[in-house]
Amino acid sequence: MNEKVAAAARTKLPLGIAVIGGGIGGLTAALSLRQAGFTVDVYEQAPELTQIGGGINMGPNAVRILRRLGLAAGLDREGVRPLSTHQRRWQDGRTLQRAPLNPLCEELYGAPHITIHRADLLDVIASGFPIERIHLGHRLTGLEDKGGGIEAWFENGARITADILVGADGINSTVRAALFGEQAPVFAGCVAYRGLVPVERIADLALETGNQSWVGPGAHLVHYPVSRGRLLNFVGWTEHDEWNREDWTDRATVARALAAFEGWHPQVRRIISAADTCFIWALFDRDPLPSWSLGRTTLLGDACHPMYPFMGQGAAQAIEDGAALAGCLVAGGNADPAESLRRYERLRLPRVTRLQDMSRANKTRFHMRDGPAQEARDAEWARAADRSPDALRWLYDYDAAQVEAVVA
Ligand SMILES: Cc1cc2nc3c(=O)[nH]c(=O)nc-3n(C[C@H](O)[C@H](O)[C@H](O)COP(=O)(O)OP(=O)(O)OC[C@H]3O[C@@H](n4cnc5c(N)ncnc54)[C@H](O)[C@@H]3O)c2cc1C
Repeated sequence: MNEKVAAAARTKLPLGIAVIGGGIGGLTAALSLRQAGFTVDVYEQAPELTQIGGGINMGPNAVRILRRLGLAAGLDREGVRPLSTHQRRWQDGRTLQRAPLNPLCEELYGAPHITIHRADLLDVIASGFPIERIHLGHRLTGLEDKGGGIEAWFENGARITADILVGADGINSTVRAALFGEQAPVFAGCVAYRGLVPVERIADLALETGNQSWVGPGAHLVHYPVSRGRLLNFVGWTEHDEWNREDWTDRATVARALAAFEGWHPQVRRIISAADTCFIWALFDRDPLPSWSLGRTTLLGDACHPMYPFMGQGAAQAIEDGAALAGCLVAGGNADPAESLRRYERLRLPRVTRLQDMSRANKTRFHMRDGPAQEARDAEWARAADRSPDALRWLYDYDAAQVEAVVA
């Protein structure tokens, strides 16, 4: 395309973008794209915006993006700033490693590390986006690339057209299946017991405001405060060969969770037993995709790169995707949206693939049986002593909106 035509294309009306899925990834992308000047609509299958109960860690790489989107006040109100992350041994509670988080993260990376209830995070993100452009009760069932745009249709009979369609519809993505074929996700051999405990019930533990991660044979348990510090969120992972929904759903009781952590340190067992109820979550996974885009349709978040939550980066990477996508579309102008989508995936693929690999490796690292390998791991952690978050500079300092390198 010659320069004159390209310039004319760039000054055309803003592209209309349909985002499928109103989870953390979809809503943040919608907000990033809207603030970049595009016309954006979100289509969510559920009758209301919801997130399963429980907490989430947001590293500075994600918090920085959310703040830039104007969400700082909401995050400060709802989020908690953990002082440190503390890794401990399952049986005797010995410290294996500590790493300071706040206020150091803000000093190093210009944004804090926060812990927050998922529902609160989703509310904060949604507060920045016009409610009338979120179409609830819209379950996408099919789409077709018509060359100049995308046609999509929904279970409720609605049909839409858009210049670009973004599949942010999670690990069982319909958009992904439409682009690259159906393929069932694979059970990752882990289930999580999750619960929330009012902090006054465990006041005697005198917990520091922070993350603690207990590692042991075939399991680990993480806990941290959410809901403005009123609740302690815990997630206890245990390894299992098979997942069978019928067999497992009735195991989600506090008694079952306690049985799964039999013999663990009294603090772990005390926290689990202080919960009224407990939920179970089976972990599923997919191998990395070689490509995310086809024509004017692309993917983001768990739809294209689900990852084990053992780096605490799944949602953070979905948030980065949205910022990078907006940056690539702005830099590319209206001339060739399909090329902008290819640039977006070229920018994002190496980073998320690295994190998928690291998250998988952490399953082995956290779940070692007691023995020589575990002793070597503990010695390595001890040598690193009070690990600075600067060890993760490549992760936390990354600016997803900086797209010049690939756009040039
Ligand atoms: C136990 C656990 C702990 C975790 N902890 C962390 C953490 O600490 N930090 C972190 O960054 N990440 C964490 N993660 C990962 C994180 O939760 C996910 O990576 C993230 O939520 C993915 O967001 P998403 O928007 O891509 O997908 P989802 O949250 O799955 O959202 C997809 C949305 O699309 C909708 N949808 C699906 N199909 C359709 C359709 N056909 N039409 C319309 N809408 C549709 C769904 O209803 C849903 O609202 C954790 C995960 C687990 C399981």
